[in-house]
Amino acid sequence: MIVVLTGGTGGAKFVDGLRRLLPAEELTIIVNTGDDHEWWGLYVSPDVDSIVYVLADLLSSERGWGVRGDTFHCLQAMKELGEEAWFSVGDRDLATHLLRTQLLSRGQTLSEATSYIAEKLDVRSRILPMSDMRVETRIDTPAGDLSFEEYFVKRWYQDPVNSVRFSGASEAEPAPGVVDAIASAQAVLIAPSNPVTSIGPILAVPGVREALQTTPAKVVAVSPIIGSAAVSGPAANLMTAQGLPVSIAGIAKAYEDFLDILIADDSDSAAARDINIGGVTVHCTDIMMRDTEDKRRIARAALALACPEILSEPAAEFR
Ligand code: GDP
Repeated sequence: MIVVLTGGTGGAKFVDGLRRLLPAEELTIIVNTGDDHEWWGLYVSPDVDSIVYVLADLLSSERGWGVRGDTFHCLQAMKELGEEAWFSVGDRDLATHLLRTQLLSRGQTLSEATSYIAEKLDVRSRILPMSDMRVETRIDTPAGDLSFEEYFVKRWYQDPVNSVRFSGASEAEPAPGVVDAIASAQAVLIAPSNPVTSIGPILAVPGVREALQTTPAKVVAVSPIIGSAAVSGPAANLMTAQGLPVSIAGIAKAYEDFLDILIADDSDSAAARDINIGGVTVHCTDIMMRDTEDKRRIARAALALACPEILSEPAAEFR
């Protein structure tokens, strides 16, 4: 079994590559829930949804979130009713939030609600929210203490960042299956996700870091940083706020206590030679995922480094 730790954008692209190489049952995805928030009274879990949608082959690749071909009639109607409309929710996407909220209100945990929704969408990989308890990423800025979605979507990540914290993390427990999956994995892959606000919250759940440190499986990460910038999004500012250099060295540093191999871009090969952090080895290739072929190629590179035997099994191409 291959275990992936991920957020929702770079992570979903990487998972899209993996699902094309592995039988669905071989994949367990541990997903960030630090971005979860309440919207119009509904419980929204943006990264979980992106992973469910990509595995169900429903994710909009143009937007990178939400359902392909979705309409936005409800959003428009809410706008006309004078309600907040800065968080775009498509009409089909809304059904997911309605169903999840209903399941939670009937007493299901987030893991149970996620499994139920995934099963209804014919997803056969295991999707585990990092915790069933609320852990909220809070971004401290000169404009105030913001939730991740306020910082990222409402305010277009323009605010300077003083610090980032994961409210509730110290009392949280990993969701059922998370620690066991890491401990018994054939390989653990860290997606090219934001190290601070996507992988950071997962690592902040007590027990997860320790599981990564002690698993006998190789731990391989793909860098979301090329040169001194993120491929997209606010990772650079957030890394700086957390005292990490914005470079592949910063990624290696964030994961140094458990990482075996970092996959970096070819253009970082000089920087890769200078990295002497923990026991981390750097492997360079083209890590831009522009299309399906790139996603498949990078997923294959990660599997080849982490667990080559899984690729030598027959029929290793699925879609
Ligand atoms: P979020 O939950 O929406 O923040 O999504 P993630 O954390 O999973 O993904 C955001 C990260 O993906 C950013 O830091 C980007 O730099 C990275 N990213 C996006 N596209 C690519 C790509 O094609 N290649 C690589 N290596 N990283 C990417």
